[in-house]
Amino acid sequence: MGTLQGTVALVTGASSGIGEAAALALAERGAAVAIAARRADRLTDLAERIGAAGGHALVIEADVTDRAQAEAAVGRTVDELGRLDTLVNNAGVMLLGPALDAPVEEWETMVSVNIMGLLYCAKAALPHLLTAAAEGPRQVADMVNVSSVAGRVARSGSGVYNATKHAVGAFSEALRQEVTGRFVRISLVEPGAVETELAGHNRPEVYETITQRFEGVERLQAPDIADTIAYIVTRPRHVAVNEMLVRPTQQQ
Ligand code: NDP
Repeated sequence: MGTLQGTVALVTGASSGIGEAAALALAERGAAVAIAARRADRLTDLAERIGAAGGHALVIEADVTDRAQAEAAVGRTVDELGRLDTLVNNAGVMLLGPALDAPVEEWETMVSVNIMGLLYCAKAALPHLLTAAAEGPRQVADMVNVSSVAGRVARSGSGVYNATKHAVGAFSEALRQEVTGRFVRISLVEPGAVETELAGHNRPEVYETITQRFEGVERLQAPDIADTIAYIVTRPRHVAVNEMLVRPTQQQ
């Protein structure tokens, strides 16, 4: 029996990369998983794979930048899976490049997804996490917020992405202090370079710069970070892993 048997997790941004791998990892450990993102076809495919492996997944098509859709994602999870023990706040975008040339729309997108989307999901989930911690099988609940190395170190050409991920760190630490006494653990995961679709949404000239920066570096794979998330949420009740920074070994 998996260590998360009887629990329910919601993973945002589960249609690719880290979120997809996290959903698989939590399902493997026995959690029923609600998988949320905008690309429903990708989620359906993932749900089929989870089902084929003996798990249970609920597909939720949602844009987390829309407050009502973020709240509905949490609401459907609780209505259809019965509870909420674990929220993995993972949906995110990274649009880089010098501030001088940047389309402001890219900044708006990052603030909307990385900050507001995460906040909407966190706010909607919190009462259910508190209930799970008080009444659930494990007597503890988890919110894992996916930040980045960029949430700790600012770099030229990454300012707004840095700002959004620093915001995630600040919010997570304040919220941790607020609810940790009630056994809701708020954790921050800060990956270095992971081979996913994330960089591919950049303008070609920016994408080129990102590719060059990591040339020759053996990057992390999404399951490496899923493993980190699974480690955090399977600790005993009295152990809270507040923060994990995980870089590829060769990343400076
Ligand atoms: P991907 O691009 O593979 O995944 C991003 C996910 O976010 C997708 O599932 C996407 O789904 C979802 N998403 C984007 N916008 C929205 C939205 N408006 N509403 C709902 N879901 C949305 O990248 P990663 O897996 O790499 O990124 C996951 C997280 O990890 C992000 O927060 C990122 O900042 C962070 N991170 C990644 C690193 C890396 O090197 N890859 C390093 C450090 C941190 P869809 O488009 O279907 O909506």
